[in-house]
Amino acid sequence: MRQLENLYRQIIMDHYKKPRNKGLLDDARYKKEHIKNPSCGDDVTIQTFVEDGIVKDIRHDGTGCSICCSSASVLSTRLKNLPVTEALKISENYINMITNKPYDETIELEDAQAYEGIKDFPARTKCATIAWKAFENTVK
Ligand code: ZN
Repeated sequence: MRQLENLYRQIIMDHYKKPRNKGLLDDARYKKEHIKNPSCGDDVTIQTFVEDGIVKDIRHDGTGCSICCSSASVLSTRLKNLPVTEALKISENYINMITNKPYDETIELEDAQAYEGIKDFPARTKCATIAWKAFENTVK
């Protein structure tokens, strides 16, 4: 279990230090959603480009704690190039996991699985879900 926790911490720090798909684009085809979490200073913007029902691109930018910033990077890699319906299903499942609700363990979360332990720290729940909620708002 210790090894798994270390692996999860490594995944989170890797996305925090080397965020994927970071930086917003000046492109009207993208839908933008900005959310703030005043309790810890997280400030995230997600930009999504959907074409023919497929999430073709996800961009993110913002400032905040390592949990928040890294999870925006993780979601951009996990949900990119998926049909909107599937991306939403994965996102809802992830948020259910983080908020300690029943969730489908057979849905492959990949790097997003690393945040599972957050459910034991309710004060950090918002940090881990803010980017995902912003993403959902761009495609709903
Ligand atoms: Zn935070």
